[in-house]
Amino acid sequence: MYFQLFPKDNKIDHWLFHVDDKGGKLITRREYEAMRCNSCGKLDEFAALAAFVPEDVVVNSPWDFVGFSDDFGIAVSRHFVDVIHDHLIKGLAFIPLPGDPRCSLLLPEVFMAVDPALAGFEYPGGKCSSCGRPKEAIIGPLIASVEKPDDPMTIFTGTEHSESVRGRRLNLFCNEQTARILRKSKISGLEIVEAL
Ligand SMILES: [Zn+2]
Repeated sequence: MYFQLFPKDNKIDHWLFHVDDKGGKLITRREYEAMRCNSCGKLDEFAALAAFVPEDVVVNSPWDFVGFSDDFGIAVSRHFVDVIHDHLIKGLAFIPLPGDPRCSLLLPEVFMAVDPALAGFEYPGGKCSSCGRPKEAIIGPLIASVEKPDDPMTIFTGTEHSESVRGRRLNLFCNEQTARILRKSKISGLEIVEAL
C-alpha cells in the first residue's frame, strides 16, 4: 500500500511565482516572465526554481507543511526537515527560503516513470498547442502507473504530474512505513491519504 502527501488547506495566500501588482492584480514575477509560454502562460516550475528562488517570500505559518497558492510549491518547517533526515528518508531536497529562515521549499528529487496507459489522466480543456502543457490534468497519476523506487524509504513523484490551471501539483508518494513515521512525528498541516 502507498500513500500520497498533501498540504491541508491552510487558507494561506502565499505565492511563489506570482505577486500582486499595485492595482491588486496577480501577475507573474518579473524574474519568471521570460519562462512563461506565450500561449497558455504556464512555466516549467522545476526549471524556474532552479534558476531563481524569490528572496521576499515569507510564509510565517505555524504549520510544518504549507502549500503555496500557485499549487506547485510546498514550504516546510525545520521540524519536517529534521524528521526526514533523522529517519534517513530519501527523495527530497530542501531549499532554504531567503526571506523566511524558519522555512524551506520542498522539491522532489526522485522522478519515477509513469505508464500513460495506466495513469488515468483526464485533460479537461485539452493541451496547449504551443508548449503541450495541459490546461488541467486531473485524477492521475494513479499509483499503479508509477514505477517504485529501489529504496522503499523514499518519497517520490512521477514524471507526469497532475495540474491545475495555475500549474503543476506535486504528487508526493511514499510507502506504508514512511507514512507511519510521518504520522508519528506529528507534522502539522500534512495530510496523508492512501494513494489510489
Ligand atoms: Zn503553453
